[in-house]
Amino acid sequence: MPETASPRLFPLFADLRGRAVLVVGGGAVAARKVEALAGTGARIRVGAPALEPALAAAAARGELEHLPGRFVPSWLDGTWLAIAATDDAAVNRAVAEAGEARGVWVNVVDDAALARVQLPARVERGPLQIAISSGGGAPMLARLVRERLETQFDESFGALAGLLARHRRTIVARWPDTAARRRAFERLLAGPLQGLLRRRRHIEAERMLERELAPAGDAAPARGSVALVGAGPGDAGLLTLRALRLLGEADVILHDRLVSSEVLQLARRDAERIEVGKQAGRHAVPQEAINALLVEHAAAGRRVVRLKGGDPFVFGRGGEELEALRAAGIDYEVVPGITAAAACAAYAGIPLTHRDHAQSVRLVTAHAKEGPDTLDWAALAQERQTLAFYMGVARLEVVQAQLIAHGRPPETPFALVENGTRADQRVVQGRLTDLSHLARHHAVQSPALLIVGEVAALAGALHWFGAPPLGASDVPLANAA
Ligand code: SAH
Repeated sequence: MPETASPRLFPLFADLRGRAVLVVGGGAVAARKVEALAGTGARIRVGAPALEPALAAAAARGELEHLPGRFVPSWLDGTWLAIAATDDAAVNRAVAEAGEARGVWVNVVDDAALARVQLPARVERGPLQIAISSGGGAPMLARLVRERLETQFDESFGALAGLLARHRRTIVARWPDTAARRRAFERLLAGPLQGLLRRRRHIEAERMLERELAPAGDAAPARGSVALVGAGPGDAGLLTLRALRLLGEADVILHDRLVSSEVLQLARRDAERIEVGKQAGRHAVPQEAINALLVEHAAAGRRVVRLKGGDPFVFGRGGEELEALRAAGIDYEVVPGITAAAACAAYAGIPLTHRDHAQSVRLVTAHAKEGPDTLDWAALAQERQTLAFYMGVARLEVVQAQLIAHGRPPETPFALVENGTRADQRVVQGRLTDLSHLARHHAVQSPALLIVGEVAALAGALHWFGAPPLGASDVPLANAA
């Protein structure tokens, strides 16, 4: 029996088809081990005086054989692998010793010293499996690593492993030389194949692989793709897992100025970063030029991430960019992000809807340059709704004047969230009638989101992030508007 965990363990993946595997124990732990054996084709036998309900049901369905009673060494006859999963250390030891004597591999749950084989922590994506071991010395660490890996590999890896396995023979025949095969794989995986799988377009992915596998000459030149990705409001913790993965794969990142450096730091080190951001009043790359850049980089075979602050489809011109990509025949996908209204509200402690105060919420932009003001101010001025205004601070005066002119009470609460979710977040709270005055007094800068409505008053009580809200009490009231 191994005395210490110090010699290195040898990793194996076992084909258990038709092999007898014995699980000793009839409780929850044993049930988990039986579950882990599902789909392996093993003949499962569970030895225990009694079985917990799920195991008993599986036995009744004929999925496992129940050996009733206390462990006896003859249970190991004809067994290939045994798992001791009882809560009785003496029984577990007896299984280990009997296994050792008979040359049967034995795993003992939670006892690395007694176990001859260990069951790894696993990440499973279809036929692709990642097994993790700490040598039995630090199972919690192995679990932590597993959790990290879980976030890194999405379901498309399972589909990809299955797809490649189905075409394994053709792949080997197409590139008999391993070095050439490796190069071909690298090219293939850098292309849009996995993106198609991620978008659940399995048939197209299969066709694409078949085209690649066709005799030389037929393969189309590698084409890149564009992922339109929402970067969220700034706090990198608010990125989606998919956004994070795509940032890790990108060759080129075209980002707005609004995207925080904290988020950009998570991108692949050697990815080319291009800032195309707009800032009110300052010269920036015109939209047509951004569209052209996207098409140009993708057509050259690169994986492009178009990274936008917040959500790409909320005041982000994401639609225009997709139209340009569609026209150019470039593949794309869209990853939503946490939009400023949701993020700023959360980080200011303002529920956007509330059964007592607001049954609806509107996302509004009131930019000056976008042509004539077509907003329905009368509708916006109605009570019991929350308004979230996306815009530069220069427009605050107009919003205040229009809402009041159309009947929203001057004492309606507002909250202005500057640099929402970022380390330097500030919240200014007050009454609609004091909006532009307070914004000027506190020198609120862009980016800032304006929330108007009864719910805005809750920031005072519910704030939790950064400094408490600034308000009218911080202003000499003598100059109040
Ligand atoms: N697509 C973005 C919005 C782009 S419009 C999204 O979904 O959030 C730009 C406006 O969004 C800014 O003028 C500001 O009003 C708001 N905004 C974006 N990020 C913000 C942040 N971190 N804090 C406050 N306002 C923000």
